[in-house]
Amino acid sequence: MRKKILAANWKMNLLVEEARELLDNLNSVNVPEGRRSILALPYIYLSLGKERITNENISISAQNMHMEEKGAYTGEISGTQLISLGVNHVIIGHSERRTMFHEDNSILNQKLKKALELGITPIFCIGEPKEEREKKTYEAFLYKQLKEGLEGISKEEIKTMIFAYEPIWAIGSGKPMGASDIHSMCEFVRNTLEVMAPGVKEEVHILYGGSVNGSTIDDMMASPQVDGVLVGGASLKYEEFKRIIEFEV
Ligand code: PEP
Repeated sequence: MRKKILAANWKMNLLVEEARELLDNLNSVNVPEGRRSILALPYIYLSLGKERITNENISISAQNMHMEEKGAYTGEISGTQLISLGVNHVIIGHSERRTMFHEDNSILNQKLKKALELGITPIFCIGEPKEEREKKTYEAFLYKQLKEGLEGISKEEIKTMIFAYEPIWAIGSGKPMGASDIHSMCEFVRNTLEVMAPGVKEEVHILYGGSVNGSTIDDMMASPQVDGVLVGGASLKYEEFKRIIEFEV
């Protein structure tokens, strides 16, 4: 049985005192059976997160990593450095990395391969922009992101991955996709992965992301296709994210 994953992406938010307070509050949350939470923190708070989070149902994640293990890459962080801190999750291919930092499918493929080689679980983000949705070409768009992103990655490795379907037009908009569309899109991603790598369907975790909050979570999590959520803005507010972890079925 796949666990439900409630993942937070803090992005470039919070000052150190705020980060410490939120981590301490989250550490005391009683994560229900069959669920786990993953907190993707800014690099500078990863050590703090590892120190403060003792709750065994909450893991710490990075929001990105470089594909090389070390060297002259000023401002970058490697997977081996993450491992040395005990961080074993990383977001790869968030739409903000793709659009603002020009990370294409080929770069993301190299990052995924390195993370998997090092034993770091990637949370691989895919999602279409508004134009693709309006033109109804989003399935082909997502297929290409998956096909190129997963090139050369084995079925056994794919099984260990977490996928986050995040339609770009829903991120930070305050307007999440409706629960029945989320169900269909997670099913589409699962079936597409199964075609690419037969046998992975029951193992992969597929999350939805895009303006998730405490009042929409219950409907979204009602679908067996939805293995969890990746949450931006609402994960910065303790009560709101606690409510998401404690979603009701
Ligand atoms: C995100 O950026 O991954 C995200 C889902 O953000 P928000 O929840 O704020 O839409």
